[in-house]
Amino acid sequence: MHARIEGKFGSPNPTSMIERTEEFPTLTIIRHPLVQHKLTIMRNRETPTKIFKELVDEIAMLMAYEATIDLTLEPLPVTTPLEATSGWHISGKKLTLVPILRAGLGMVEGILRLVPAARVGHIGLYRDHDTLQPVDYYFKVPGDVAERDFFVLDPMLATGGSAAAAVSSLKRAGATRIRFLCLVAAPEGVKRLSTEHPDVQIYCAALDRELNAQGYILPGLGDAGDRLFGTR
Ligand code: URA
Repeated sequence: MHARIEGKFGSPNPTSMIERTEEFPTLTIIRHPLVQHKLTIMRNRETPTKIFKELVDEIAMLMAYEATIDLTLEPLPVTTPLEATSGWHISGKKLTLVPILRAGLGMVEGILRLVPAARVGHIGLYRDHDTLQPVDYYFKVPGDVAERDFFVLDPMLATGGSAAAAVSSLKRAGATRIRFLCLVAAPEGVKRLSTEHPDVQIYCAALDRELNAQGYILPGLGDAGDRLFGTR
């Protein structure tokens, strides 16, 4: 069990929308009741593909609300139908979403609904049979990498191998500000990603118990890609 230092452990209704643990200082667990409600429906093995896809989309949007909390605002003059006043404009570096293929694709549209100006890159990875190391088979992100904030997306943070490799690829391309958003995280994955990339903030909706021998998260929700795309 992970010691909670924020949030009201044991209560279904948290006192804070987020929870942090002593063990993983770069991890933020989104405890909002809507997120927890939707995640529980996703975990249900009976939930059909259409609903599962809608829920990934909605949770990603709600998580992005928290993950964008520190975007910088600049004052912006605006004229209403009645008078001139001053409003706000997000001045932060341009946001880029980078889904890890293929399950990460399910999180893109929900976040774009909140931040329609965000760009979308893509990373595809496979594990080399000989070296067992993840290798990019596809890597495409907007050109001005150093100017951008990146949200790497994958619903499941399991072993952390793909997540850490995706972040490494982005850093090699020049990225310096990177966050990782997932729905369900395993302690093993959080440990690996936060050890290899202590500068990357990780957001999840749940920190589950463990990985099984096949690398699935327990209790988890099964294979997110198969459940999203109906390929089971
Ligand atoms: N990927 C998934 O889709 N599910 C898991 O439980 C682990 C990795």
